[in-house]
Amino acid sequence: MTFLRLTGIQKAYQEGIPVLQDFSVSIPKGQILGLIGESGSGKSTLLKIIAGLENRDLGEVFLEDQRVKNPKETLVPGHEEIQLVHQEYQLYPNSTVSENIGRPLLLFDQDYRQKRLHFLLDLFGLKPYQNMLPRQLSGGQQQKVAIARALSMEPKVLLLDEPFSSLDSIQTRELIDELREMFRLLDVTVLFVTHELTHALQLSDELLILRKGKIIQKGFAEDIYAKPKTIYAAKLFTHLNAIPDKAKQYIRPSAIKLLRSNGIPAKVVNKIYLASHNQLTVNLNHKKNQWIVEDRSRKFELGDRIFLKYNEADVLIF
Ligand code: ADP
Ligand code: MG
Repeated sequence: MTFLRLTGIQKAYQEGIPVLQDFSVSIPKGQILGLIGESGSGKSTLLKIIAGLENRDLGEVFLEDQRVKNPKETLVPGHEEIQLVHQEYQLYPNSTVSENIGRPLLLFDQDYRQKRLHFLLDLFGLKPYQNMLPRQLSGGQQQKVAIARALSMEPKVLLLDEPFSSLDSIQTRELIDELREMFRLLDVTVLFVTHELTHALQLSDELLILRKGKIIQKGFAEDIYAKPKTIYAAKLFTHLNAIPDKAKQYIRPSAIKLLRSNGIPAKVVNKIYLASHNQLTVNLNHKKNQWIVEDRSRKFELGDRIFLKYNEADVLIF
């Protein structure tokens, strides 16, 4: 029995314009899967369908072999074991952190509610803020409140739609570190959407790359990096340099050696300081070709003539 299973999901809001096409995937229990795709590729639609909050035209969603109903088949849309945190997570502005997190538990008995609430406040490091209002918290803390609220009823599956889109890069990095540990501890299965590959790499066990409503690749990051099936998947990781006179052949900046002599002659025309290296733009001689290369020893300057080398084994062919 697979834990969460989608089979042949098809969805179009307007006839003839499919948003999801023949989408099938199985997700094991406890996995954190990062879903990457550009804006409009159907990511939010997919999450809503999994949560039973949007009708699908074809296909099925199963959680532990229990079928998730379409909204049109039920009076109360949604599935209590599957919780979705929307991109604009709406916290109640006039309710405290505790009230926001405990809200879904109002119908449960007092004892359980208090226990669960305090467990989550502790786990998320929100105890000191429990009596504050959302606007008194940082963006990262607000996002934690939204996630804690979604986890209050102990769902088996947590769906996060672009959870970091309103946070800055430091807040995001810190939140990701915390979330990864919490998800492991809770053994919750997580599907989260992002358009930032780095976030997906930091948080997920596996990646699923979506393009125009179709899965183009699924697997471990290192496998997709080593053998991207499409140029789109490859470009998510790094820039690709087109090899002159060889159609559909590319080399990554990181695979190119920079030398003072012997190799493909080039001239440095731009230099950008990055945290781990200088990124150089170089013009290849006799060609109207520009490449991006990495100067890890930061020894080349604008205008320098340099020579480039790479191994054939590192060439990507599509
Ligand atoms: P993503 O989350 O990857 O940006 P969405 O699932 O939000 O993609 O949207 C996919 C496509 O479906 C887009 O072209 C969007 O305009 C369209 N779409 C999304 N929701 C609706 C809706 N409720 N009605 C009509 N079209 C929609
Ligand atoms: Mg979206």
